[in-house]
Amino acid sequence: MNLKRTHTCGELSSKHLNQSVILNGWVDDWRDLGGVLFIGLRDRYGVTQIVFEPESKGDLYQNAKKLRSEFVIAVKGLVRRRPSDAINPEMKTGDIEIVCSELELLNISKPLPFELKDYAEKSEELRLKYRYLDLRRGILQNNLIMRHKLAQLTREYFSDLNFVEIETPVLTKSTPEGARDFLVPSRMYPGKFYAMPQSPQTYKQILMISGFDRYFQIVKCYRDEDLRKDRQPEFTQVDIEMSFVDEEDVFQVMEKYMARLFENLLNIVINTPIPRMSYDQAMENYGSDKPDLRYDLKIQNLTEIFKDSAFNIFSKISQENGFIGALVLPEARDYSRKQIDLLNEYIKSLGGAGIATFIKNDQKFDGGISKFFNEDEKSRLLSQFKSSKQAMIFVIADSSIEKAQILLGYLRQKLAEDLDLIDKNVNVLSWTVDFPLLEFDPEEQRFIARHHPFTSPKLTDLDLLQNKPELARARAYDLIWNGNEIAGGSIRIHQREVQERMFQALNISSAEAREKFGFLLDALEYGAPPHGGIAFGFDRMAMLFAKADSIRDVIAFPKTSSALALMENAPTPVSEKQLRELGLKIKDHSK
Ligand code: ASP
Repeated sequence: MNLKRTHTCGELSSKHLNQSVILNGWVDDWRDLGGVLFIGLRDRYGVTQIVFEPESKGDLYQNAKKLRSEFVIAVKGLVRRRPSDAINPEMKTGDIEIVCSELELLNISKPLPFELKDYAEKSEELRLKYRYLDLRRGILQNNLIMRHKLAQLTREYFSDLNFVEIETPVLTKSTPEGARDFLVPSRMYPGKFYAMPQSPQTYKQILMISGFDRYFQIVKCYRDEDLRKDRQPEFTQVDIEMSFVDEEDVFQVMEKYMARLFENLLNIVINTPIPRMSYDQAMENYGSDKPDLRYDLKIQNLTEIFKDSAFNIFSKISQENGFIGALVLPEARDYSRKQIDLLNEYIKSLGGAGIATFIKNDQKFDGGISKFFNEDEKSRLLSQFKSSKQAMIFVIADSSIEKAQILLGYLRQKLAEDLDLIDKNVNVLSWTVDFPLLEFDPEEQRFIARHHPFTSPKLTDLDLLQNKPELARARAYDLIWNGNEIAGGSIRIHQREVQERMFQALNISSAEAREKFGFLLDALEYGAPPHGGIAFGFDRMAMLFAKADSIRDVIAFPKTSSALALMENAPTPVSEKQLRELGLKIKDHSK
């Protein structure tokens, strides 16, 4: 390579007029106007216009005519001002062009499977297969640069506060998050397996016991789950743990972290302290433990009003301590039958029985289920809905309170999107706190930890663990940004006695607990300090800060939603020899 660059393709301007420069990059586009030939030369920093004139010396012009998209070249030439009608204010380098005097062809490229500029419209599968080309697009490069900045700010922020970045193993034993593990067979111990960590949870607690006091790590975690939207089998967390703290200390450090990120990445000042909402409030009002608070629209509880409803389903649900909730939307009062049918289908697809509707028209109720209302119900509904003169009212009822609320939460979100109620320019952060400690797992017929079994119960709720475990609350917290859970954590159990009561509530025998987490239980007995922590979903944060549509757009080499790596083609079968070494045999799946 003779012509090494003196500048990047994004930095020349009228300040550099008449300078001799060298640029290296890719042919972004070329225009052969019969006479002069124009090339847009691209690198990560921008695009610069290169001009080849027919009268230039030797075979330069002829060689330039052979250039095609994505050829890699070096050009030398003089910077000159573009004619006034060719100035492009949209481009960083739009004032100038380079008149080429020397060209070096560094490499050629096959014709692309697709023009880079059209890529956005191509199927994501194709983009992932040719990810090396996809990643040449400015938008993805900017996303990854945003991700890089997020990582640098994170390291700087936590290091400045005395947090130590410590790496933890990838070949390990099951961690307590409770999803399915990715397993790695051991060659040295045939029949035995390492589990890949679902998070560094046990290690970071052990680091507190070792006295590190403040730990963080930007770390890959692995969970072998069916992938929902915006989930990846391997994903990145900012994992954090602190000693001698309670909730308030964790909140303070994390709120300043968020403030720092918002200010540096988006130039936005966020208000602290970040408001807190209990899990119960979040579920009752918004039908979600990660409510999108960019729009108000609260669920209204009608359970009591319909206790004796002539609409039998309602009276039954009300009397059986279920839940009947409504969303009241002035904006939707002209909804057609068809639109309502679509919403109904949506709720049924989520496992609900459907939606009932009626209209409020001033002091009257019309349509839908309003024919069942008696005078008393009407007057109570009028006072309940007194702030909206006219509105469409959507009602969902279910004998499970939680299910009814969750369905109303989905409906709330869907209606807000359909009716454009969400102000995309605002950012609302909130903490959800006071989570239930346990949830009942119908499959296993026992309580399981909602967060993980090392999460401390509220000290006031310790006695509930034995008698009314479903009522015990956890010292756990989630951080929510515009309806996205971006972090979750808890104050941990650090005393053996409490840990044992927790395992009892979970119906985990001490033998089972020993077998799974014996090392942590042992460590907890050697002077464990009170400690707690949190983990941020790094990919999701990068997605939100980059305003990307999907977490795959902020991950250099993501898997598809069916967990495939399309570029490198994984997973794949392995050789007989490899299997033999591992002591494994593959069952014939066709049988
Ligand atoms: N390890 C937890 C998780 O991955 C986070 C925490 O409790 O710090 O969900």
